[in-house]
Amino acid sequence: MSERTVYLDYAATTPVAPKVAELMTRLLTSGSDFANPSAVHPAGRRAQALVATAAGQLADLLNCDPQQLIWTSGATESNNLAIIGAARYRQKRGRHLVSMPSEHKAVRDVLRALERDGFELTWLAPDESGRLNPESLKNALREDTQLVSIMAVNNETGVVQDIEQLGQLCRDADVLFHVDAAQAVGKLPLDLAAMPVDLLSLTAHKFYGPKGIGALYINERPGCHIEPLFFGGGQQRRRRPGTLPVPMIAALGCAAELAKGRIPADLKHLESLRDQLWQGIRNLDGLRLNGDPEHSFPGILNVSVDDVEGESLLLAMEPVCVATGSACNSQDREPSMVLRSMGRSDAAAQSAIRFSYGRQTRSADIEFAVGHYIQAVERLRALAPGQAA
Ligand SMILES: *Cc1c(COP(=O)(O)O)cnc(C)c1O
Repeated sequence: MSERTVYLDYAATTPVAPKVAELMTRLLTSGSDFANPSAVHPAGRRAQALVATAAGQLADLLNCDPQQLIWTSGATESNNLAIIGAARYRQKRGRHLVSMPSEHKAVRDVLRALERDGFELTWLAPDESGRLNPESLKNALREDTQLVSIMAVNNETGVVQDIEQLGQLCRDADVLFHVDAAQAVGKLPLDLAAMPVDLLSLTAHKFYGPKGIGALYINERPGCHIEPLFFGGGQQRRRRPGTLPVPMIAALGCAAELAKGRIPADLKHLESLRDQLWQGIRNLDGLRLNGDPEHSFPGILNVSVDDVEGESLLLAMEPVCVATGSACNSQDREPSMVLRSMGRSDAAAQSAIRFSYGRQTRSADIEFAVGHYIQAVERLRALAPGQAA
């Protein structure tokens, strides 16, 4: 590990916080905390208590009741459970659903699967800064609409939607509102007691917890229920059965408690890194911000540049670890759906680079990345001058 790499891909995943890793290791390896929390013997009750503590910690971060939380394997599962579960529960009332083409694949493709099963979808495009005009949501809601799914923070651009306002429109129309908050939980303050949100997905590994554990918040107000997707033991009141992974759950709880205490400091740190990054690259010829400078999570900065292709840029920027489009799309070379839905050309979408940074990122890392980005753009332009203007 002599060569310096700079990791600027925190939106794809974060390292596990040392305190979280310590707790998890202890629970995996020692004592009698390994027991199955469904067991009624003393060891089982100890494991149960660890789960209850974690639920309390997460509920504290979100300002909700621990009873409103279900453990899942991550945001992909939470999104599937929320959307399919709610759509099935309410399908006798109607089969119309509303979302946006800029959602994460783990929402978009779930809805597409429901579309193939006979549900009717309305896709609302964002404006060119990535935000949804509440008026267009209002106009899309119908008598038979059952569910609206809109993310809190976009994973490619960092754009923040007005969840309160959009949620209120759904409440007024008696429509369930699901929020994929994988990029928001533990990073931006959220107060679910005060927010008109019915279902909310989150995952630990986006806020310094381990991969493979997440949660779904279910408001449980009248009419807000889900059909389970899995069947088995009766765990989690049958809504998501399966033996609970206690060390993972405890780790998520610990990460939530850590996050709660540091959201303001984390945000301040990210804002200063974002400003440094933007100042460093903004004067590059043909550079364009993909996002909304007014309504953005400061830990993500997405930019396009003329005449350069993102994949080549990514390779030319080594050893800086950044993303083109979203990490989940890195296998297919389709231009980003998020950026196209914001009206970007294929060429602009294809040149996009997402910088995302976090707690361990230092100002020197940003300086290093700025240098590599500018050099890579200039080098690639020199190789193919005048290419596709
Ligand atoms: C990372 C992410 C997911 C998927 O989360 P997993 O825990 O990896 O399943 C879903 N939605 C958004 C917005 C994400 O950023």
